[in-house]
Amino acid sequence: MSARDHDLHEIREAVAKLCATFPMDYWRATDRERRYPTEFVTALTRAGWLSCLIPEEYGGAGLPLAAAAAILEEIQKSGANGAACHAQMYTMGTVLRHCSEAQKRKYLPKIAKGELRLQAFGITEPSAGTDTSSIRTAAVRKGERYVVNGQKVWTSRAEHSDLMLLLARTTPREEVQKKTEGLSVFIVDMKAALGKGLTIRPIRTMINHATTEIFIDNLEVPAENLVGEEGKGFRYVLDGMNAERILIGAECIGDARWFVARATAYANERKVFGRPIGQNQGVQFPIARAYMATEAAALMVERAAALYDAGKPCGPESNMAKQLAAEASWQAGDTCLQTHGGFGFAEEYDVERKFRETRLYQIAPISTNLVLCYIAEHVLHLPRSY
Ligand SMILES: Cc1cc2nc3c(=O)[nH]c(=O)nc-3n(C[C@H](O)[C@H](O)[C@H](O)COP(=O)(O)OP(=O)(O)OC[C@H]3O[C@@H](n4cnc5c(N)ncnc54)[C@H](O)[C@@H]3O)c2cc1C
Repeated sequence: MSARDHDLHEIREAVAKLCATFPMDYWRATDRERRYPTEFVTALTRAGWLSCLIPEEYGGAGLPLAAAAAILEEIQKSGANGAACHAQMYTMGTVLRHCSEAQKRKYLPKIAKGELRLQAFGITEPSAGTDTSSIRTAAVRKGERYVVNGQKVWTSRAEHSDLMLLLARTTPREEVQKKTEGLSVFIVDMKAALGKGLTIRPIRTMINHATTEIFIDNLEVPAENLVGEEGKGFRYVLDGMNAERILIGAECIGDARWFVARATAYANERKVFGRPIGQNQGVQFPIARAYMATEAAALMVERAAALYDAGKPCGPESNMAKQLAAEASWQAGDTCLQTHGGFGFAEEYDVERKFRETRLYQIAPISTNLVLCYIAEHVLHLPRSY
């Protein structure tokens, strides 16, 4: 075992230990009530796991992305729903690379201490959908402020975050050569903005995801909250996306491992026709297939994270990692449900909850079709299809 593997092993053990203090009935209750798991997020924050990517000079642990991936995988593998807090890791790709020194000094130490939460990422809009460059939310500079108007949808955790990274158009689409130009990223102080141009409306969904739609009406954002250069925001957001894809992939691997473990345990213990159901090849083969798919996808997640941490290009690997892992977790979830028969539908087995939760990752943060579009165009050099 290398020194690095050894570190990850210790991290995994510590995260698993913390997660074990939040038993399955905690997750059942938060899911049933669509309640934000504040206690869990607070415990992870206090233990320093959510600030693991923040460099030490700003009070974080300065760990590589592979460590963040291991943390999120362990959370999911424990049966928990890490969607409540994963964005603080996803957003770091943009923040660490593109925020000014002054912005980092202002926000990162407080995020690391748990005094501020950066859990909201406002990109998607109802009319633009996957076509991010078509967003309509506009920010117009007026002296030392930007005045922002527009609407976002699926802005998850907005009610539970102090800060939001917001993507808005600063130059009208007709005035830029490429539609990806003229977009900018802002840090929005959510608490200050609430009631002063920002309205948050929760969306009830099939999973407990604290997702919302937000309405922005003449919201004033100080010019100092612009991230990097005006008009370059699309690139800044893209820069964070490889990290996000790798981390989502790791979460899916955690889900898949949970499903495979649960399916195996149930197949061994449930007796029908006088023998364990797992003795039937019709039951054991799908579990073996799900296991193989999971292990193969995990290798791609590991490879993508290693490239990312080495500062090497990793677009294809990050996209493949996310897609293969999301497919493996869905395959494992479906197999786990089938293995449980009717009991898979009972809330107390947690399978139906995890089944719903893991399905999201074929849609968000990027749908499977768009990952295939990326591989077809950028790796296989087929004509762009969208
Ligand atoms: C629970 C949840 C949480 C989310 N959290 C956030 C968040 O925190 N922040 C945020 O900004 N967004 C968030 N999202 C948004 C998510 O990333 C989007 O839903 C996603 O980008 C797709 O946009 P859309 O739903 O409008 O689908 P659409 O763009 O309308 O696409 C619908 C379907 O058509 C397919 N499609 C579209 N165009 C093409 C094409 N050219 N070729 C092939 N297929 C195509 C898509 O793959 C998809 O299957 C969240 C979504 C959900 C459901």
